[in-house]
Amino acid sequence: MSSGMPRRTKIVATIGPASDSPTTLRAMIAAGMDTARISLAHDAMEPTIERMGRVRQAAEAEGRIVGVLADLPGPKVRAAAFPEGGVTIAQDSLVELVAADDGDGSTERRIAVEHPPLLSELLPGDAVALGDGGLRLRVRDVGADRATATVETGGWAQGRPGVALPPGRTSLSSPTDTDLRYLDALCEAGVDAVAISFVRTAEDMVRVRKAAGPDGPMLVAKIETQEAVDNVDEIIGVADGVMVARGDLGIRCAIEDVPHHQKRIIRTGVAYGRPVITATQMLESMLRAPTPTRAEVSDIANAVFDGTSALMLSGESAVGLHPVAAVATMAQVAMRAEREFDYGTWGRSLGRQQSVEVVGAPAGVRITAAVSAAGWRAAMDAEAAAIIACTNSGATARAISRFRPTAPVLACTPSERTARQLSMAWGVTPMIVDAQGTTDDIVWFAVKSASDRGVVRPGDVVAVLVGSPTDVEPVTDVLRMVRVR
Ligand code: PEP
Repeated sequence: MSSGMPRRTKIVATIGPASDSPTTLRAMIAAGMDTARISLAHDAMEPTIERMGRVRQAAEAEGRIVGVLADLPGPKVRAAAFPEGGVTIAQDSLVELVAADDGDGSTERRIAVEHPPLLSELLPGDAVALGDGGLRLRVRDVGADRATATVETGGWAQGRPGVALPPGRTSLSSPTDTDLRYLDALCEAGVDAVAISFVRTAEDMVRVRKAAGPDGPMLVAKIETQEAVDNVDEIIGVADGVMVARGDLGIRCAIEDVPHHQKRIIRTGVAYGRPVITATQMLESMLRAPTPTRAEVSDIANAVFDGTSALMLSGESAVGLHPVAAVATMAQVAMRAEREFDYGTWGRSLGRQQSVEVVGAPAGVRITAAVSAAGWRAAMDAEAAAIIACTNSGATARAISRFRPTAPVLACTPSERTARQLSMAWGVTPMIVDAQGTTDDIVWFAVKSASDRGVVRPGDVVAVLVGSPTDVEPVTDVLRMVRVR
């Protein structure tokens, strides 16, 4: 790959109090944020919509296309807020666990768990984890109005951390009524993508899809329980994207299994042409420190080698001291790793995997898969300077992106929303172009736009993937090799 190639792995950064100002948002976009994630687990609907507006304004001011991913809270049990700035919960100390928030919030000695049936679901000897599992408690006794627990692993608690109760006692049914209410408002506000927490089965995703309607946002399934890992093919089959949510995954599955789940989820997601986001604790030390640890740098590089489409920052950009430096570090490490990625082997082995999706799929899906595979091979053989995917929904760009081609991929689309949604797709640079009436015009204007922007030059060969604009069922059925004049 040429060293002048732009970064291909996308960066999703969570927006919070540390990154909310227009100046910080612009600096994060300039440093490489492609998608802004807004977590509804921490904020109400109105501030979320306002935040989305600020992201869009900052993107416009920077002249960049940035997507917004709203993350639904799901059925996660949380602790009431700890005091501003957080507290240290001392190792071996005793803490009280009370059910529901009485308005006093949580402290280092008394944790208010926002789950009314808490005390009926706890037994002495149970393990309870807080946050991403860094804090671990062991229940000693359970009384009528409180339980007491020993702190087996102490640490820092801030905000409203998740509380992982013993699996099997609490039903984690997703989506919740609150999720569906939020989804309604997010659809109304025109959000680009929505992440669904604690998905267990494909049916959970289908319920959200029905509620969102046919013109709804992209739906990203968060894989964060063993049940979701067991059903991952079916879930990915009905999702538009997938997240390896390593925080909860590391609590709800054996922690040593997490890297292996990550590899499998990424390969399955990419084989289906879905963007995969690898999330959580990628630069955890940068919550406070200005530079990362060696282990974090290796983790990011290995996620790139695993084939992830996007890397995610959570607390690092939402509440950390160095949100802009965290984005810049992630971008720098990803770009360096991309120079070592084995592109040829990836694309060749994906050819076999593709049949997982394609056998028995509708004709349009089979044709798009075949034409995009041909486009990948033809671009290599003709040493194409670029691959142009002409796309309304973004599906054609995602179909070619999964091969991880060495040539840059430009997605020409008349839809601003599609352009923003492609901000999670590996290696895809979206370009907004005017709609055209015929396949020939679509190809001609796409090549001209790429040429006007200096992406291709006279004499270059370009592989163009395109479908008919008048087809009822969207399908990519044309591959045209164009010489730029
Ligand atoms: C995770 O658990 O890794 C995750 C991304 O989910 P959340 O941050 O919403 O808990």
